Amino acid sequence: MQDLGLTEEQRLIRDNVRALARERFAPGAALADKQYQAPVANLRVLADHGYTGMCMPSAYGGSELGLLENVLVVEQLARYCANTAMLFSCTDGATPRAILGIGSEAHKQKYLPRIVKGELLTAWSMSEPNAGSDVGNVQTRAVREGDAFVLNGSKLWCTAAQVSDLFLVLVRLDPAPGMKGVGAMLVERGTPGFTIGKHLDLLGLRGTGMAELVFDNCRVPADNLFLPAGRMRELLGVLDADRISGNPPVCLGIAQSAFENVVAHVKDRQQFGKPLADNQGLQWKLADMAMDIEAARALLYRAAMRVDEGRPSIADTSITKAYTNQMAVRVTNEAMQLAGAYGLSEEYPFERYFRDARGMSIGYGTVEIHRSSIAREIIAGRYGV
Ligand SMILES: Cc1cc2nc3c(=O)[nH]c(=O)nc-3n(C[C@H](O)[C@H](O)[C@H](O)COP(=O)(O)OP(=O)(O)OC[C@H]3O[C@@H](n4cnc5c(N)ncnc54)[C@H](O)[C@@H]3O)c2cc1C
Repeated sequence: MQDLGLTEEQRLIRDNVRALARERFAPGAALADKQYQAPVANLRVLADHGYTGMCMPSAYGGSELGLLENVLVVEQLARYCANTAMLFSCTDGATPRAILGIGSEAHKQKYLPRIVKGELLTAWSMSEPNAGSDVGNVQTRAVREGDAFVLNGSKLWCTAAQVSDLFLVLVRLDPAPGMKGVGAMLVERGTPGFTIGKHLDLLGLRGTGMAELVFDNCRVPADNLFLPAGRMRELLGVLDADRISGNPPVCLGIAQSAFENVVAHVKDRQQFGKPLADNQGLQWKLADMAMDIEAARALLYRAAMRVDEGRPSIADTSITKAYTNQMAVRVTNEAMQLAGAYGLSEEYPFERYFRDARGMSIGYGTVEIHRSSIAREIIAGRYGV
C-alpha cells in the first residue's frame, strides 16, 4: 500500500488503529454479520482509545485532527470489521459534524462533549418511504405547539438506529413544497411518542443496527429545533465532508481486505498441479484489482487533504464517493470469482465483503445522484484541473 505523502503522525494513527482493529474487532466480524448484531462494544473500545471525536475542537474534548486522519481510521476499521467502521463513522460523523458546523452554542455544549467521550451515540435520519434521493419530499411533520414541536411520521434505513441515543431528523416544518419546507430536529431516545421500529435486514452491513424510526405525536422540546425550514443547503453543505469520511473509506477497507485475502487464496490453492496464482489470466485480474484500489485511495486521500486545506469541492466529493463505491463492488466481486465456490461459502469472508460493499453505492447518495452532481459541476464550469 502506498503512503501517498502521509506524515509520520498520520502513519502512526493508521498503524495503531489497524493493530487495534485486527486484534479486537476482526474476531467478531463474521458473527456480527451472521447474528445481525451491532458490535456496539467496539465503539466503547474506540472511545477509550481516543478515536471518537477525533476531529472535534479541544474545547469539546476532541483531538482537532483532520478529515484525512478520520478517513485513515475508518478505512482500517473496515478492513477488519465493516459494521464497526459504519457504526463509528455514523456516530462520530453526520450528527456531531452538523452540530459543530451549524448548531447553536447551547446544542454544542449540551451534546458534543458527551459524543466525544463516546457516552452518546448518534444517528442521522433523512430517508422515508417516499423520500430517498428526493430529500425535498420529506413528509414527517413537525408542528409547533406551545413549547414543543409535535412530530408524526416514519423514517427508513436509519443506520445505527438500534444503538443510538441522539437522532438528527429531517422533518417538514412548513407546508411549502420541496426542500423549502424541510428543516431538522434533534430527537433524544426515550422521548415519548418516539420508537425505534423494526430492524431492517439488508443484503449486507447487517450489524449496523439499521431500523425504522416512528413518531406518533412525539413532543420534542422547542429548544431541540436544529434547523428551521428553508436552510437545508447549510446542512447539506456541512455534511459534504461527511460524505468523504463516512462512506468511501468503508469501501476502501472492505476492498483492501477482499484483495489481500484472495491473493493469499490464489497463492495457496493448487489446481492442475500448480498454484492458481501461476496463471497469467488470474495474475492480470490481481493487477487490475490493485490498480483500482490504488486509484480509489489516491482520490480519497486527495479529497480529504483538500478539505483539510480549506479547499473542499463538490466534484471531489462526488467523484471520490462514486468511484470508490464502484471500485469496491468490482474488487469484491472479482475476489469471489477468484475464490471459486469458496468465494460463495459463508465459511469464508468473500461473500460478506461483496454483500457489505454493495449497499455503499446506495447509501449517502446513490452513484447515479453523485454522477448528476459531478455533471452539474462540469457544466457550470466549476470543475477543472
Ligand atoms: C447501507 C445504507 C445505509 C443508509 N443509511 C442511512 C442513514 O443512516 N440515514 C438515512 O436517512 N438514510 C440512509 N440510507 C438510505 C439512503 O440514503 C437512500 O437509500 C438513498 O438516498 C436512495 O434512496 P432510495 O433508496 O429511496 O432510492 P430512490 O431514490 O428511489 O432511487 C432508486 C434508483 O433511482 C435512481 N435515481 C433516483 N433519482 C434519480 C435521478 N434524479 N437521476 C438518476 N437516477 C435517479 C437512484 O440512483 C437509484 O438507483 C442508507 C442506505 C443504505 C443502502
